[in-house]
Amino acid sequence: MRRKLDKIRVLVIGGAGYIGSHTVKLLQEHGARVTILDNFSTGKKFLVQSNDLVEGDLGDSRLTDGLFSKTSYDAVMHFAAFSIVGESVQNPLKYYRNNVGKTAVLIESMLKYGVKRFVFSSTAAVYGEPEVTPITEEHPLRPKNPYGRSKVMVENMLSDVSAAAGMEYVALRYFNAAGADPSASIGESHEPETHLIPIILQAAGGRREVVKLFGTDYPTPDGTCIRDYIHVNDLADAHILALEALLDGKGSDVYNLGCGKGYSVREVIDMARKVTGKEIRVLEEKRREGDPAVLVASSDKIKKDLGWKPDYDNLETIIETAWRWHGKVR
Ligand code: UDP
Repeated sequence: MRRKLDKIRVLVIGGAGYIGSHTVKLLQEHGARVTILDNFSTGKKFLVQSNDLVEGDLGDSRLTDGLFSKTSYDAVMHFAAFSIVGESVQNPLKYYRNNVGKTAVLIESMLKYGVKRFVFSSTAAVYGEPEVTPITEEHPLRPKNPYGRSKVMVENMLSDVSAAAGMEYVALRYFNAAGADPSASIGESHEPETHLIPIILQAAGGRREVVKLFGTDYPTPDGTCIRDYIHVNDLADAHILALEALLDGKGSDVYNLGCGKGYSVREVIDMARKVTGKEIRVLEEKRREGDPAVLVASSDKIKKDLGWKPDYDNLETIIETAWRWHGKVR
């Protein structure tokens, strides 16, 4: 393991969440010193991977001013966003206040204390309905819901602040994060759970009666939606590379993160049956509002610029690692 991040101090906001906790673990394995700031609105105590934990809100400028005045952080990573599309349609202000407003407060606080490197969790939802596939970073940004719009707003804010105040940032547009650390010490845990793979594995583990399959009439070979599943540790690794690029002075940029391979909902269910050896009952339902038929990333840019390469590049391994975690009954 490279220890290029020895002595580097990182504030990880949302470090008690799913992707945040995997990134904290990997940052520390690379030698970085990590402080987690999390308000535990969706984060979990059992996912906390650093002894340096601050319980509080990213929008509390007195708290962040205190952190930045006390410790000289080399960078901030920001995972602390709400991310349920349906909820964002029902309650858009929750998304604009938390995902956008509080991020502005955080960045103001960072700039006040000269913290000028930022790694931001963005999403494939910034693209909306794709015009071409695989999706490159040049694809137009036409988000279909408040969640996606909140992420575009922050990307725009970062670009403006970068030009005006010399802040450097990397925005990582995640496709479908999945899987768990192979140690099964951390993994995905949402309440309510809305994501496909955990829901399937809850059904496999007997903790859910059926998997509702949302839509069987999409213009895809088997009629169900196609997504690009990326292992959470490969996502975490991209954060390490983004941080190293910022430390090397490579400047601000935006990258997609997916494996570049699409799997339909039926294929994911079949693979989960194979991996778990369990019956998984399926109930066909109508489409879920706002789901594009196909979302597959081109991640060529981050491969070329930062040398990113996924280690868990197949659905079977992704589901195997997730099953190891879900087998522990969360
Ligand atoms: N999906 C499904 N049943 C579920 C949850 C999800 O059929 O209980 C489908 C969903 O409609 C989408 C795909 O699985 O086509 C992936 O959904 P998920 O919420 O995991 O991720 P998204 O692509 O929406 O970010």
